[in-house]
Amino acid sequence: MEGGCHCGRVRFRVTGDLAQTTVCNCSICTKKGFLHLIVPPEQFELLSGAHDLTTYQFNTNTAKHTFCRVCGIHAFYVPRSDPGKIDVNVRCLDGIDLAGLAPKSFDGRNWEAAMQQHVPWR
Ligand SMILES: [Zn+2]
Repeated sequence: MEGGCHCGRVRFRVTGDLAQTTVCNCSICTKKGFLHLIVPPEQFELLSGAHDLTTYQFNTNTAKHTFCRVCGIHAFYVPRSDPGKIDVNVRCLDGIDLAGLAPKSFDGRNWEAAMQQHVPWR
């Protein structure tokens, strides 16, 4: 699958299973509307836009919330749960049918407790 930000500067290719799509209720995912697909780095390739990415960090500063500095869209980032992996925003995939998805839920609002339970994408 391929996808990117809104202005088209940031483009990526990813291999993954959309059945693993997860929605998170934490403070930033709620505001961003991020739909997560977490993949190992070898399943992700940045095609363009490396120089247009900027990073927002907060709290534990583990997650690297990369976004396009031109259009502001968060197409993918490095998640706190799996800092060795890439978390793609399913909403940014080309031609995505959001109505056809059945996202799993992650209780990121209670992050520490939620990580002790079954983590849906693992
Ligand atoms: Zn952009």
